[in-house]
Amino acid sequence: MAKETTAGAQIRLEGISKHYPNSIALDDVSLDIKAGEFMTLLGPSGSGKTTTLNLIAGFASLTTGDVYIDNKLMNDVPVHKRELGIVFQHYALFPHMSVAANVAFPLQQRKVDKAEIAQRVTAALEVAGLHGFESRLPAELSGGQQQRVALARALVFEPRVLLLDEPLGALDKKLREDLQLELRRIHREVGRTFVFVTHDQEEALTLSDRIAVFNSGKIEQVGTAQELYDTPKTRFVAEFIGDSTVIKNDSSNTVTIVRPERGQLLADESSAKPGMPTVPVTVRQAIYLGSGWKFEIVLPDGTPGVIRSNTGLEWLGEAENRAFLTWAPAVAPELPA
Ligand code: ADP
Repeated sequence: MAKETTAGAQIRLEGISKHYPNSIALDDVSLDIKAGEFMTLLGPSGSGKTTTLNLIAGFASLTTGDVYIDNKLMNDVPVHKRELGIVFQHYALFPHMSVAANVAFPLQQRKVDKAEIAQRVTAALEVAGLHGFESRLPAELSGGQQQRVALARALVFEPRVLLLDEPLGALDKKLREDLQLELRRIHREVGRTFVFVTHDQEEALTLSDRIAVFNSGKIEQVGTAQELYDTPKTRFVAEFIGDSTVIKNDSSNTVTIVRPERGQLLADESSAKPGMPTVPVTVRQAIYLGSGWKFEIVLPDGTPGVIRSNTGLEWLGEAENRAFLTWAPAVAPELPA
């Protein structure tokens, strides 16, 4: 959670758009990011996340709208005067400079004196978990260590905002998960505002105070991981965050979203609790996970779904695999189809 007093800046986007001759990258997006918050911009490829980050940084010009940082209008302020720390996948390290020299670079540009540079570089390397790597060249580091150097370099001049565009995108799963935990720790330690772009919903759920879900150049919903999971406002959000079984309601042009742990499979329809709906399903696979069971199901119209349970289905027929899915309507959102 964001601290009550924070060194991070507040960011306000008001109706921002970015049009290109043949495409609309971003379409009238508004977003309030709190001081010290870890805000993740989440969405599929091409949904406008990087464009939003570029507009905050000043790398691209606005077609419409306003960008405010701490209530100051930024529209015409050049990139270097916005005082933002930036960690992008393409923002490479200087290959001929040592780790320490890479991290010192932003301070030298700002004409900070030598003794202070030495002290701040040491502190930034410490925060980024790079103690002992000072004299190595980037080529002598792993991908994860290189991203830590990029992070230290972005933090060393104590910017009030850090912009991160898929910084873990090139790393393998294990390293990625380690660095996710590190990023959370660093965010807590430095108390700055982090704006983080990813297309990976698990990464977003792990890291963020709040998540803005992007789709086709617009924000569909902003909320905590739990709000997005429990009360999605659109079908897109429900399907993008977490697993679900999507049941079409023919009479009303809506769908009902049943989360895996909120549905139950029954041997016969009559054992459903009063008031609880049922649909016939076929169980394709029953997978034992140690902590419980996962059932891959198929609805009568061919739609696949998934249900989790602490117990197995002893009654399930080998040949037929027929069951009934039931759920409590109160915990299954009904959304426009
Ligand atoms: P994301 O970061 O979510 O993957 P982007 O913000 O990079 O998405 O892109 C959003 C949309 O804008 C995409 O359809 C992309 O093709 C388009 N776009 C981005 N940059 C340009 C550009 N320089 N010229 C034309 N179209 C662009």
